[in-house]
Amino acid sequence: MSFCPYITRRDFLNGALLTVGGAMLGCRPSQSTSPVVPAGSPGSLGPDWYGYGGVGDYRFSHGNTPEVVETAHRLRDQGFPSDFDRVDSSETYDLVIVGAGLAGLGAALEFTKRRREGQTCLMLDNHPMFGGEAKENEFNVDGVRLIGPQGSNSFFIPEIPKDPDTAAGDARYYAELGVPREFQFRDWPASEKALRFPRDNYEHLVRGLLEHTSLGHFFAGAQGGTWAIDMWPQRLANTPLSEDARRTLLQWYGSGAMRHFDSAEAAAKALDIMSYQQFLEQELHLGPEAARAADLFLASAVGLGSDAISAFVAYDLPLPALSDPLPQDLRRASFPGGNSGFVRYFLKRLIPEAIRGTTSFEDIISGSINLDALDRAGQPLRMRLRSTALSVRHEGDPSSASAVRIVYTRDGRFHELKARAVIMATGGWINRYVVRDMPREHRAAYEQFIHAPFLVANVALTNWRFLHRLGITAATWDQGEGDFGFTCNLRNPMQVGGYQPPLDPDRPAILSFYTPFHRPGLPARVQATQGRIELLTTSYPQFERKIHAQMMKLFAASGFTPEKDVAGLILNRWGHALTVPFPGFFGGASGQAPRDVIRKGYGRIAFAHSELVGWQHWGPAADEGRRGFNQLVSAI
Ligand SMILES: Cc1cc2nc3c(=O)[nH]c(=O)nc-3n(C[C@H](O)[C@H](O)[C@H](O)COP(=O)(O)OP(=O)(O)OC[C@H]3O[C@@H](n4cnc5c(N)ncnc54)[C@H](O)[C@@H]3O)c2cc1C
Repeated sequence: MSFCPYITRRDFLNGALLTVGGAMLGCRPSQSTSPVVPAGSPGSLGPDWYGYGGVGDYRFSHGNTPEVVETAHRLRDQGFPSDFDRVDSSETYDLVIVGAGLAGLGAALEFTKRRREGQTCLMLDNHPMFGGEAKENEFNVDGVRLIGPQGSNSFFIPEIPKDPDTAAGDARYYAELGVPREFQFRDWPASEKALRFPRDNYEHLVRGLLEHTSLGHFFAGAQGGTWAIDMWPQRLANTPLSEDARRTLLQWYGSGAMRHFDSAEAAAKALDIMSYQQFLEQELHLGPEAARAADLFLASAVGLGSDAISAFVAYDLPLPALSDPLPQDLRRASFPGGNSGFVRYFLKRLIPEAIRGTTSFEDIISGSINLDALDRAGQPLRMRLRSTALSVRHEGDPSSASAVRIVYTRDGRFHELKARAVIMATGGWINRYVVRDMPREHRAAYEQFIHAPFLVANVALTNWRFLHRLGITAATWDQGEGDFGFTCNLRNPMQVGGYQPPLDPDRPAILSFYTPFHRPGLPARVQATQGRIELLTTSYPQFERKIHAQMMKLFAASGFTPEKDVAGLILNRWGHALTVPFPGFFGGASGQAPRDVIRKGYGRIAFAHSELVGWQHWGPAADEGRRGFNQLVSAI
């Protein structure tokens, strides 16, 4: 099954979804602005680029680190020797997996289950912490521990599969790893002002789910602007929009499926030839207001907006006009650190000592990480962090070679690995440079991919009284000149054993800004490149100022001041966060999709990363890894 932060058409059509039922930050903004750059960073991004990383195990690995960005750019710019004939060490493994995100972990799980006696595997990852985009941030505000997601966010509880061995995606791993199906959240007192809280960072952007949230939309204006609370349930009657704009938006929002297809393949053929915006214009004769409203969710989920995204994505997500509204009782859940919870479940199965404690939900989700357990000699599966693969090449002709040579860099030195097979669980943006003997067909296919940047800014608040006064738990706004982002929200934080974050307007909480960089109207590739330049060239203090200014614009009138209310800020910058499923990504009318070429692999190398799915999601990411392993199993 495919799918994103997000619900798939199949999720709900199958009825698969269940309802789910000190070390203080101390001195506030000053500490949050002191940069923490991991050792070994060449520093050319500037000492004030990375910024504060919070506390706990993930503090040195929030988003892409400066070292990761600089090493990747040096690779792109051919700044490393091409032959690497001098290396500091050499080791041999049966399998090397490059990338320790959910795809790499899916491959490792399959290796662990199916390895023959004596077979070994090494995982490499360039970050100081495993998990790829599924990592977490941790704050300690006035003694209160707060955990939030760095990126990968949330999930629906999948169905219980009849046979986990033949199941796929979320349902398979959920059952196989023994993830619980019931969770605890805070009750909001009935005596308090009525407020509804999202349980993740996406619900409030999705038709059919946004009713779970007290959502305010801010309209900038001469007198400091106005708020429209619950504007969709109120049918926009409380907004300053013109009659025409309201009519357009309501027509879009209220549209059920206008086209019906016998299968996803038929839908892809018919829809993957135009953008969602084109579909809205042609089929509904709607103006751009509807497309811009859809962008709030689309850009947050797949990196760019309606003008750049295939209409097939809107069919499968599902969005108005290509799908009926979602049932109101669907609920998302988000672990404290988002989908880092699933990463922890994989790791506990693969290298149990890597997370201290038992296999209880509480220990897996909130136990401390033991990095020393990852890379011990004699383990069948080892994981080596802070290690960037620079070159992957068969030893000889790929069709007959008996091994692949991998060169990676760690702490400024070059090391060699020899393996019978390699799974690239990384991403298309870097595979093009790392995999040196890649066939022309694969290279041409990868060149069609577009990767969008993304920034998750987690703001630790000492209190959220300013939101309470407004009567909201999530905000959206129309992004104007100079604005930062277009949405932020609190979550009702999941309670896990001893981890009991409060839900109280006078106590600490995390306000998350999920921020894509779309620029509607420009070619998709230009939007992604311009966004990445903005993401990478803005320093931490500049982003901090922008975020504080945006919060002042939105919340000053309800009593917000950064000095009083902000305890810290962590930026999680993802340079190539999300693949952009442009029209044609799924094969368009011809059915020939570039990802099908990549999935074929060649010789002893398989490509297995979640972007091949088209919309990135935790379970299908692991499926890609499993597929990669199965492709190579006879080679190891
Ligand atoms: C902002 C955001 C929100 C999301 N929300 C959700 C959600 O709500 N629900 C959901 O299911 N999914 C969500 N996703 C998508 C999901 O998290 C991803 O699809 C999945 O985590 C990606 O797994 P992956 O293993 O393919 O890639 P990654 O997580 O990117 O892992 C690949 C790893 O390989 C490393 N690597 C790359 N090149 C090299 C190299 N040369 N050498 C060594 N290591 C290398 C990378 O740095 C990374 O650590 C979200 C994604 C983002 C960005």
